[in-house]
Amino acid sequence: MSDALPGEAVDAVVIGGGAAGLNGALMLARSRRSVVVIDSGSPRNAPAEAVHGLIVLDGTPPAEILRQGREQVRRYGGRVVCGEVTAAEPAAPSADGDLRFTTTLADGRSVTARRVLVATGLHDVLPEVPGLAGHWGHGVVHCPYCHGWEVRDEPIGILAAGPASIGQAFLFRQLTDDLTYFTQGIDLDEDPRPLRRPQHPHRRHPGAGGR
Ligand SMILES: Cc1cc2nc3c(=O)[nH]c(=O)nc-3n(C[C@H](O)[C@H](O)[C@H](O)COP(=O)(O)OP(=O)(O)OC[C@H]3O[C@@H](n4cnc5c(N)ncnc54)[C@H](O)[C@@H]3O)c2cc1C
Repeated sequence: MSDALPGEAVDAVVIGGGAAGLNGALMLARSRRSVVVIDSGSPRNAPAEAVHGLIVLDGTPPAEILRQGREQVRRYGGRVVCGEVTAAEPAAPSADGDLRFTTTLADGRSVTARRVLVATGLHDVLPEVPGLAGHWGHGVVHCPYCHGWEVRDEPIGILAAGPASIGQAFLFRQLTDDLTYFTQGIDLDEDPRPLRRPQHPHRRHPGAGGR
């Protein structure tokens, strides 16, 4: 569902309707600002089955969280418009000198706002390993906090992308005994070796979610 773009100037246009944009819009709308969120519908975590590590909503599909977020923004009078923003430019200020911006969509529509909040997220650039992209968000994961529990006790390979990748090895090491670090030619300092697993007597908690 897409709301209509307002014909008159609004207080704020939010570019991007992911978690950040919707939360910003929610606060603006609750502060009685007229707000329009424009979203092209490609949140970063779209490939994931569920969001984890977010209290109350742990295990909820990303699309469901955003659906509820859009509903909450609309509850306070905010609008959520489907579309891609191609330009956001300064426009002529109001008679009393207040700033104005014109935001233009790919389909040629535009809206004028007093302020613009950019919440377009980021785009993951995946390593060029054949077949890897197809498993992104499932068998190929980037974050031990988001997906670590789901891959616990499985064989895990860490693909080094730089010297700091060793940190991933330490984090995922807490989740499995079977970890391989693919250095990809990036040298390890002496310090990080060996990757001994810390002893956590209460590490395994049965029944707290599936894989
Ligand atoms: C596979 C994966 C799983 C993840 N799992 C978790 C997890 O379990 N727990 C957790 O806390 N975090 C998780 N994350 C991180 C989480 O996805 C991000 O922190 C979160 O999505 C950031 O929200 P955001 O609103 O900044 O960006 P996004 O969610 O990426 O939203 C940005 C939005 O802006 C829109 N947009 C971009 N450009 C334009 C434009 N020009 N015009 C209009 N709209 C535009 C996009 O379509 C998108 O809808 C995961 C990330 C990935 C990659």
